[in-house]
Amino acid sequence: MLYDLIVIGGGPAGISAGIYAARQKLNILLITKTFGGQLTRKAVAIENYPGFKEISGEELIRKFTQHLKKFNLEIKNDLVVQIKKRGQEFSVFTKKKKQFKSKTVIVASGADPRPLEVPGEKKFIGRGISYCSICDGPLFSDETVAVVGGGNAGFEAVIFLANYVKKIYILEYSSKPGADQTNQEKVKKTKKAEIITNAVLKRIKGKNFVNSIIYQDKKTKKLNTLKVKGVFVEIGSQPATSFVKGLVDFNERDEIKVEFETYQTKTPGLFAVGDVNVGQYKQIITASGEGAKAALAAYNYLTHW
Ligand SMILES: Cc1cc2nc3c(=O)[nH]c(=O)nc-3n(C[C@H](O)[C@H](O)[C@H](O)COP(=O)(O)OP(=O)(O)OC[C@H]3O[C@@H](n4cnc5c(N)ncnc54)[C@H](O)[C@@H]3O)c2cc1C
Repeated sequence: MLYDLIVIGGGPAGISAGIYAARQKLNILLITKTFGGQLTRKAVAIENYPGFKEISGEELIRKFTQHLKKFNLEIKNDLVVQIKKRGQEFSVFTKKKKQFKSKTVIVASGADPRPLEVPGEKKFIGRGISYCSICDGPLFSDETVAVVGGGNAGFEAVIFLANYVKKIYILEYSSKPGADQTNQEKVKKTKKAEIITNAVLKRIKGKNFVNSIIYQDKKTKKLNTLKVKGVFVEIGSQPATSFVKGLVDFNERDEIKVEFETYQTKTPGLFAVGDVNVGQYKQIITASGEGAKAALAAYNYLTHW
């Protein structure tokens, strides 16, 4: 079977691409590891998706998925491990050892949290190290914790954690936090956060669970210890792009380079949308919008196939 389109990913970008392509009556296969992507993991209350004054990530993705399943398209729960192109045809290989062929492919595989890569991190995952403040914050009631990363994700984590914990250290690598003003004001209001700038995390220590972290002050070079029970990692994300190597160009953050408006990569017929590409503004609505545009661009490409 040769599909018109294979969509990889079941987050906002992939679901939106699926809906738009299905309405063009394309013959589609959507392959995804899970439905929901980052929304199910992190965002609690979404307040910036039109039509919903406030909605949880899980609820929004449930509505997206229900909407998608109304259309006539095939869905497979699997992990894509490689894509190849021979002539005009793509072959998509999955972890379940399946191979699917298609005329076009939309990559919408999103991103995973970026690890700290310091000693102690791997040892204490699930034992004090967390990549999801929303999931794990309530486990640290009345404790002192650290949030690594002073961008918007870090500050949003602090705002949430402040509902539970006693004190929060925010470790920021540069000389000032990058979070926007609104988030900075909200964090200040919690009266629970202490921001430590020029801080390079060096080591996470503990016995069975985390009990302290060591960071270096970039200016003085002095090593300092903080007694914490939890470390929340908020230093950005790693795009899920390994399976597409060789067919696309990447920037320094491993994000896929795409053409403006069509979201086509350097390989004709191969598109990349949402958090996997170089786009600066990574949001539900932008990911959905890109999925829609790429589906229409794929449809257009197919008219010349
Ligand atoms: C803490 C936090 C709060 C946020 N809050 C908001 C908010 O309030 N409002 C807002 O607009 N945005 C928010 N965002 C951003 C938003 O969640 C993302 O921009 C959006 O989810 C990106 O959608 P996506 O479809 O590109 O990727 P993702 O949501 O990451 O989805 C990727 C999908 O691809 C699948 N996948 C990955 N690799 C493979 C593979 N190899 N094979 C098959 N499937 C694969 C995954 O299982 C997943 O379903 C927030 C993000 C975070 C981290």
